[in-house]
Amino acid sequence: MKVYKFGGASINSKERIVNTAQIIKNNAGGLMVIISAMGKTTNALEKVAEAFFANDRDLALNLFFQIKQEHLSLAEELLTNKLPEAKDQLINFFTEAEWLMHDEPLKSFDFYYDQIVCTGELMSTFIMSLYLQELNINCCWIDVRDFIRTDNNFRNANIDLEFTKERIFNKVTDLLKQFDVVVTQGFIGATADNESTTLGREGSDYTAAVFANLLNSESVTIWKDVDAVMNADPRLHRDAITIPALSYHEVIEMAYYGAQVIHPKTIKPLQNKNIPLFVKSFLNPSLPGTVISEKETKSLPPIIVQKSNQVLINFQSKDFSFVDDNPMIQLREIFAQNKTHPHLSQHTAISLLCCFDNYPKKIDKVITESEVHFIVSIKRNLSLLTIRHYTESMIEKLRGGRVIVMEQRAPITIQMVLEEK
Ligand code: ASP
Ligand code: MG
Repeated sequence: MKVYKFGGASINSKERIVNTAQIIKNNAGGLMVIISAMGKTTNALEKVAEAFFANDRDLALNLFFQIKQEHLSLAEELLTNKLPEAKDQLINFFTEAEWLMHDEPLKSFDFYYDQIVCTGELMSTFIMSLYLQELNINCCWIDVRDFIRTDNNFRNANIDLEFTKERIFNKVTDLLKQFDVVVTQGFIGATADNESTTLGREGSDYTAAVFANLLNSESVTIWKDVDAVMNADPRLHRDAITIPALSYHEVIEMAYYGAQVIHPKTIKPLQNKNIPLFVKSFLNPSLPGTVISEKETKSLPPIIVQKSNQVLINFQSKDFSFVDDNPMIQLREIFAQNKTHPHLSQHTAISLLCCFDNYPKKIDKVITESEVHFIVSIKRNLSLLTIRHYTESMIEKLRGGRVIVMEQRAPITIQMVLEEK
């Protein structure tokens, strides 16, 4: 069997859905398909959760109404004899979220976020599976929340692999014998109490890898709107090139440094079972794309990851004690509680310097909480440039005369925090 994963961009219009369905049809048979929410639905649902949590129920329900309408009209455009079934089920999903929004928000924001945001993938996959059935594909839909069991770390839930393994292995293996295609959602799961959870933004890649691992899949294919994995963001670098083959190791490093290729958690479940990952273009499926496997690749081009809107925080001990084990543990706990994580950190005797994405609310909390133990100072308006397989001339070119605030250099990777111009 094989696993395919389609992201939001592959189903953001009727034309794209028709195209994606064609790819599925051409490859039906032992196929597990993981699909994200349509287009920008997850962002739109985030706004609903924010409005609800800010006690603006009218705004939340209005925003949700628009999302409902979009999905209903899409179902109407795509479906004929399956339309009544689609409407019934969509209404069930809507009701789940609306029911919740009729109470006051008494639990955490992250809890409500997950209950609301998970509807995006439920709606998109349900419509898609009915459309595939109308194309005479022998296909079934499953609610992934019945299979992926997580803890209750809402918005960044951790999968309970033992429990999930049992469920997936027994039930999904059977389904794959009965049906040519099994469609389900990425990104979401559920706790033991049946509360919905999400695995972190862009988490559908990770879901696909978990299914592949637990089902001993032959391969995973992530279908994207680019021709293959590229060595830099083509929107920022006009000379970006595609890379035909990469090792798991290279990709996990790229993702860790912030390259938006694949969700960073995706690689481990694949590497552990030596399952190759293909990244291919849904716009042009005949292109070879990129294959990611255990094979180490030689002579890679420089791989560039640029992150703007960064801050650098200096945590210095108050009494000149060394910033070693204990203070470090305190800081790591503060970072974890605020669900933030430095992309680069550097140690001195009495201070720790960390570079973070500038999410003002989180950063403010990190500062307030760490000020109890440390003298904290912050530098803003920075960007973080990471180059793997760098050359000196490349560094100078990409730095473009900007002041280096912090630098870390190893034989393969250089990272620089730069002042933004
Ligand atoms: N729909 C989710 C997101 O936009 C998950 C995903 O696409 O992977 O983050
Ligand atoms: Mg995506």
